[in-house]
Amino acid sequence: MRRHHEAKDGAAAIVELISELKAELVGEDPRNVEHCWDKLRRRHVFSGAQEGVFLIALSGIEIALWDLAAKAAGQALYRMLGGKFRDRIRLYADCGDGDDPSGSPEGCAARAQRLVNEGFTALKFDIDAVQHPAKFDAANHTANGAELRSMVERVAAVRKAIGPDVDLCVDLHARYDVPSACRIAWEMEPFKLLWLEEPIPAENVDALRQVRARSRTPICVGENLYLRWGFRELLQQQAADVIMPDVPKCGGRAESKKIANLAEIYYIPFAPHLVSTPLGTMATCHTCAAVPNFLVLEWHALEERDVWDSYVFAPDGSGPIVKDGHISLPDAPGVGVELNMESVRRNAAPGFGVFE
Ligand code: MG
Repeated sequence: MRRHHEAKDGAAAIVELISELKAELVGEDPRNVEHCWDKLRRRHVFSGAQEGVFLIALSGIEIALWDLAAKAAGQALYRMLGGKFRDRIRLYADCGDGDDPSGSPEGCAARAQRLVNEGFTALKFDIDAVQHPAKFDAANHTANGAELRSMVERVAAVRKAIGPDVDLCVDLHARYDVPSACRIAWEMEPFKLLWLEEPIPAENVDALRQVRARSRTPICVGENLYLRWGFRELLQQQAADVIMPDVPKCGGRAESKKIANLAEIYYIPFAPHLVSTPLGTMATCHTCAAVPNFLVLEWHALEERDVWDSYVFAPDGSGPIVKDGHISLPDAPGVGVELNMESVRRNAAPGFGVFE
């Protein structure tokens, strides 16, 4: 698909990989979802089944298998996972750089205000700017005083517009070094953020633990980590306050539930990252429903809501998926939405075709 994929990131390679893995599942009972998943993963540990593109392809396959298994059982997917803790999933709207292409504080405040009026109780803005005009060095990872001031102006305008009770997160997209991450965290303290996201890259848990120890703003990471093993050290070292595995990327629906359950033993909330069509979104909602420590789920389709909605239809005829900043959990068998193949074909990336 053009802008969203169920198995997301690195889409070109994933299409090839899924076609290749298909042969290895022929003859298996698709209802043995975890066995099928484990077979593919263990077989391919020498070809990269630890992270990245391989895991993304495997996550897409796994979600499709869960849909099949739940439909075969005539049950909504969450019922296959031990049932639900909640009927609807609270979303946070990813607001990017706001309404104004230059990312002005006024444009951010306007977008924030509009979404709160629409019913959202949590928002996220990007505050990193790799091309900030005041940068002293385009290649290093240090934020200077002028950059910090731009970040503060943006967050201050949003907090003022939405008041104290709407949850607010900001994303740094893993762009900074440890001293910059700490300075940014300190500057954010007055705004009472729900979290500061990915202040530094994902690879070094020791460095992250340092940032967390020096920050009074909660730190959230995880969209670039894979599998239970990818979260093991992070959790054991208590290097984050909130985790955000991406369900159609980190290993799939069952794997993300296991990661959430591991986080629960450290009393860490689970707030999945997500950039997906309604199909991947709804699959993620079933995991969010089935774990106690769910906090809030990302929703990214603000600027393309019509095409996003058009990818699926709900078998029970219920209207738009996102209402009042929430998604209600469907009771239809499987994931609970069906692809509208006409829209999927219309929006497919040229040259890639559509799995049918
Ligand atoms: Mg992020």
